[in-house]
Amino acid sequence: MAKVLCVLYDDPVDGYPDSYARHELPRIDHYPGGQTVPTPESIDFEPGQLLGSVSGELRLREYLERNGHELVVTSDKDGPDSVFERELVDADVVISQPFWPAYLTAERISKAKNLKLAITAGIGSDHVDLQAAIDNDLTVAEVTYSNSISVSEHTVMMILSLVRNYLPSHDVVRSGGWNIADCVSRSYDVEGMHVGSVAAGRIGAAVLRRLKPFDVHLHYFDRVRLPEEVERELGVTWHLTVEEMVAVCDVVTIHCPLHPETENMFDEALIGKMKRGSYIVNTARAKIVDRDAVVAALESGQLAGYAGDVWFPQPPPEDHPWRTMPHEGMTPHISGSSLSAQARYAAGTREILECFFEGRPIRDDYLIVQGGDLAGAGAHSYSRGKAE
Ligand code: NDP
Repeated sequence: MAKVLCVLYDDPVDGYPDSYARHELPRIDHYPGGQTVPTPESIDFEPGQLLGSVSGELRLREYLERNGHELVVTSDKDGPDSVFERELVDADVVISQPFWPAYLTAERISKAKNLKLAITAGIGSDHVDLQAAIDNDLTVAEVTYSNSISVSEHTVMMILSLVRNYLPSHDVVRSGGWNIADCVSRSYDVEGMHVGSVAAGRIGAAVLRRLKPFDVHLHYFDRVRLPEEVERELGVTWHLTVEEMVAVCDVVTIHCPLHPETENMFDEALIGKMKRGSYIVNTARAKIVDRDAVVAALESGQLAGYAGDVWFPQPPPEDHPWRTMPHEGMTPHISGSSLSAQARYAAGTREILECFFEGRPIRDDYLIVQGGDLAGAGAHSYSRGKAE
């Protein structure tokens, strides 16, 4: 019997929903490029239900208890007196979502003597100290691609919202006003702008693809170039360095993982190399940018806007400066947790658990760390060492 410790975000303040805005989700079998969506033996939910909150339990309880395992679900994840810290001591498996990350630090890993598997219900396992996972022979797995398209849609929304000044204009309506000049004095068309993506992996490439019909000039920077035919199809320009790319862009969108190579990439110096009045959208990870450099650049006008859904820590304190900085279009970390995405990553979590308990290999695409080293998708996208 294994103990599975699952950290999920709180239920809605008005309680767990008993009805939903829509009754069905579009059926998707494959992601772009052909990878199949998760294929567990079965699922115990209707796609479209809220699964990522405490009462949703990723609908794992029935399956786990039927197989003799114990499931502990909590949202209480931070600090030495948290339920997470207490229950971790004898847990075999930890499941956590990046939206409400259970930070699996080296110290916590060293206390979790039974821990064998850490599953990210979603994508992005930087809340796990990957070097400590390597050193302690843990398996770290995530549900690769499960919410990549969800994030790309959110990103396009944020680019349009910032450039067109949507949120402040919406506020004018909500407050009973109608002053057009106030709304439009920071509103531009995206058409003709130069838009660059830091990384063209699953999300970055999907963003580029979605932006193409807006008649923008597309750019990207990545360690590995896209296939030539994809570059041609998208009309996208590759840059050898991020510095070279940001210097020519009006909008920069960030889609690389957080790891030692990318941490603090957008510091004061790099932001200073951007065109004055540029926009940054960051749906990757907060620590890829310098928190205070972003605030200063918005205040000085070096940046015309900053939007994103990733913060550090999560949840951020009430006085986090990104809540009140000018020209922001922030959301809580939601882009990868739409009800559509939840159905996929809950099914993917189930698939990983089934493989783990039945001694079958976990899909290579889902592996980040295994056998004392980066593995599968992790070997491709992450680097060894610790991002602080
Ligand atoms: P992918 O692995 O498909 O793509 C990541 C890309 O980043 C790869 O092309 C990789 O390049 C590139 N990369 C890695 N390091 C660097 C570097 N130092 N410089 C430039 N490029 C680099 O991942 P996804 O596109 O699916 O996800 C990207 C990130 O988005 C996740 O790691 C996660 O942090 C974040 N995310 C956020 C979500 C949200 O809800 N806001 C949800 C899902 C993901 P290479 O090919 O060389 O490895």
